[in-house]
Amino acid sequence: MKRRTFLRSSAALAALPLVRTAPGAAFALSGAPLHVNGARLNAWLAKFDSIGRTPTGINRVAYSEADLAGRAFTLGLFREAGLDPRIDTAGNIVGRLEGTDRSLKPILIGSHVDSVTDGGNFDGPVGSFGAIEVARSLKEQNVRLRHPLDVVVWSNEEGGTVGSRCAIGHVTPADLDKVARSGKTIREGIGIVGGNVAKLSDAVRQKGDLACYMELHIEQGGLLEKAGLQIGVVEGIVGLRWFEITVTGFANHAGTTPMDQRQDAMLAAAKFTVAVNEAVRNVPGRTVATVGRVVVSPNTTNVIPGQVVFTVDLRDLDAAKIAHFTQRFEQLGREIGAATKTTFDIKQSVDTDPAISNPQVMAWIDGAAAALGFSRQRMPSGAGHDAQEMSRIAPMAMIFVPSVGGISHSPKEFTKPADVVNGADVLLNAVVAADRA
Ligand SMILES: [Zn+2]
Repeated sequence: MKRRTFLRSSAALAALPLVRTAPGAAFALSGAPLHVNGARLNAWLAKFDSIGRTPTGINRVAYSEADLAGRAFTLGLFREAGLDPRIDTAGNIVGRLEGTDRSLKPILIGSHVDSVTDGGNFDGPVGSFGAIEVARSLKEQNVRLRHPLDVVVWSNEEGGTVGSRCAIGHVTPADLDKVARSGKTIREGIGIVGGNVAKLSDAVRQKGDLACYMELHIEQGGLLEKAGLQIGVVEGIVGLRWFEITVTGFANHAGTTPMDQRQDAMLAAAKFTVAVNEAVRNVPGRTVATVGRVVVSPNTTNVIPGQVVFTVDLRDLDAAKIAHFTQRFEQLGREIGAATKTTFDIKQSVDTDPAISNPQVMAWIDGAAAALGFSRQRMPSGAGHDAQEMSRIAPMAMIFVPSVGGISHSPKEFTKPADVVNGADVLLNAVVAADRA
């Protein structure tokens, strides 16, 4: 029997023995895989490119006029797909494709449509429109799922995954008072996009409320392109730790202080910067660490720097590695401080746990990509996503498609139309696989 034929009948489907393998093993789709309407999906993306387009890039920052226009366009796509969208109290757009079994938890798919300042048209919209297209294709092709399929477009992802954090109840009153890039507070912004901060708890989904969450997204890096691969199966979103380090030496005359009598905070910071790079490179793995901001004082040509404040950004999928390097940096601070007669004060300013993908959801994605004949690899995400918030309450995994040149958060951001379609096809078949589990 052809796959599509038996999927037409949910009763027949329910009666069929499930094709299941051991948990974590690849799910093999029987029969021909399904396909989205790729031309339609790319036409939506092309149209969307004009919304918030400025000479310096796409500017659809959350709660701006362009964001509202982008959301209106997106709501139109939900309606055209027959998804009857609603806006939850956090300002997220949600539409449902009903399943045949009301006792089952929904499968949730989606992404975001807001952008950074001077960004591109693919970070967010690919996964948002891809999810809408998946739901529309299922409907048009008369594929009835057992689970309800919820399509979500999260609000204000680029301002700190605000919509998805609201959805797991991780937003504090202080967060709501923060000013977004549009100049409005998050509290105001949620109201502007149709949410209701007074009833924010209505948007919260509890652990166990969802069957799973899947998000299609552009890679935003160059690993897939470099490897010549079509699909990334995301193993998780890296944990992030930021350090603010203050080195204190002694500011003194650059002409009269001999080289062996200096307490040069800049020299100590420079040694530390090199040592951080070497420490990370000497341990096999995918840890990244960056000294990105340096403030020197007095920052004068003829004075030995008395104080340097600088930052380190540390990321890894493995929490143990983050803990290891935190200790290593503290040790380096003591050693370099002693050698340079300076003191290191190391404070952590940001600390986010890694969000690990669910092996079974990864297997559905991997199996879908295999059935479609796509080359692929498992890989971490170095950038943050709404999926990291969903991982706290639901089995989660993500699908990456290549970014040309590895460029993102830039007007040069581009993903080839064929790759957009590949990603949406993987999402479609992974949803079907999840539904049958
Ligand atoms: Zn994004």
